[in-house]
Amino acid sequence: MNCESCAIPMPKPEDHGAGDITNKYCKFCAPDGNLRNREEVRQGWIKALMRWEKISIQEAEKKVDEAMPKMPAWRDS
Ligand SMILES: [Zn+2]
Repeated sequence: MNCESCAIPMPKPEDHGAGDITNKYCKFCAPDGNLRNREEVRQGWIKALMRWEKISIQEAEKKVDEAMPKMPAWRDS
């Protein structure tokens, strides 16, 4: 399954928040098992995208701000 906050794949139990396979969120969005706030997740996601996709912060911000409102965790906020 994928994180319902940032969409990264979570193939292993330790990829889930707090290492709990039933957690809908990943270890980055919910390090202790509870989902972090929207801005914290947004900042972490932007940094991760810049690293993974080798893009600028402006490009990463644009992608995240487009993707985030579509995620189950953030759809209604
Ligand atoms: Zn996540």
